[in-house]
Amino acid sequence: MSHAFADVSRYFGRAARVLKLGSDDQKLLETPARELRVECNVRMDDGSVATFIGYRVQHDNSRGPYKGGLRFHPSVDIDEVRALASLMTWKTAVVGVPFGGAKGGIAVDPAKLGMRELERLTRRFTQGIQDLIGDDKDIPAPDVNTNAQVMAWLMDEYARSHGFHPGVVTGKPVELFGSLGRDEATGRGVVIATEEYLRSVGRRLAGTTFVVQGFGNVGSHTARIVHELGGKVVGIGDHTGAFHDPAGLDVPGALAHAARARSLAGWGGPSIPPKELLLQPCDVLVPAALGGVIDADVAKELRAGLVVEGANAPTTPEGDEVLGARGIAVLPDIYANAGGVTVSYFEWVQNIQHFYWEAERVRAELDKTMRQAFAGLVATKKAHGVDWRTAAFVQAIGRVHRASELRGY
Ligand code: GLU
Repeated sequence: MSHAFADVSRYFGRAARVLKLGSDDQKLLETPARELRVECNVRMDDGSVATFIGYRVQHDNSRGPYKGGLRFHPSVDIDEVRALASLMTWKTAVVGVPFGGAKGGIAVDPAKLGMRELERLTRRFTQGIQDLIGDDKDIPAPDVNTNAQVMAWLMDEYARSHGFHPGVVTGKPVELFGSLGRDEATGRGVVIATEEYLRSVGRRLAGTTFVVQGFGNVGSHTARIVHELGGKVVGIGDHTGAFHDPAGLDVPGALAHAARARSLAGWGGPSIPPKELLLQPCDVLVPAALGGVIDADVAKELRAGLVVEGANAPTTPEGDEVLGARGIAVLPDIYANAGGVTVSYFEWVQNIQHFYWEAERVRAELDKTMRQAFAGLVATKKAHGVDWRTAAFVQAIGRVHRASELRGY
């Protein structure tokens, strides 16, 4: 069983103390509104029937419909989904998009399933949660190991019982009511967050060195955009291998390989032992894979000036304390990776209006949202004399608390 929810609780508690929230309010804000567990029985290609367990946790909807991704991973359990659902509540509030927070997941290794098996599993799970979701209720999206195709199946399965509602899910293919720019949105948001931080300390992205851990949707787009803007990507890696070159890696080459091979396995770049990737010297370290990778031991040894959390919950509270004591700034997940849900919001708006935006508009609005949120964090950080993560939680909890009060309990 994961302890992810207890970890988020520690961050929450730190901010709640700054806000001087009473224990009743704390409990009310922390506790998820609804948790659903669904058994998904799926006919496998060989004729057998396999059972997978899926979850949807709806944490808070005082600021708008529940919103959050769906992950397919063997480590998924109710505690992890609950933690990630609460992070979504704080994330949507930090950037001010009118949603609450939710998360879903299925305990499965999708690499072991064939395409049709994956489709049947997605459809079965959608049937299990269909009464809880809807474009004005709860809107899933991609997360670890899910993509636009999975979202298309979800939309289609929902339509069978509820009719045409493309806004029931975001992160859909552009050919099927998705938004331009959604695919790269989390990575682009990570880069904008980094640029804002660098600007605040009188530096620029060009020439800054980056290590990016994870080469899925978030890591690969982050590395690409950093490279395009003149930053130097000195380290990359995924679950199959890691690469490092202080002179800068061939990012376009790695991207082309990963597009073909679906991972970095077999790429001809300068490889290093995967455990060493997070410890390579760099200006900016972007953990963009799974949670919990920066624990106290890693935090003691890493040699970055700034950590930008592309993944959700990549730093444990113990790791966070060590980084704080070492004076290494951390831009927290609930701000740094909020570009994804921000463009999900734009996709949802386009679906509801049946009016589709050009890529430049998506980019400009994302840029504005991330930069405004950063300005808010700077002000909150200064007002309370706290670190970036606490500032983000203070900002978020304050907004959700105010909305709940206005609505009445
Ligand atoms: N899964 C992404 C996240 O953790 C996106 C969620 C969304 O777009 O709803 O932020």
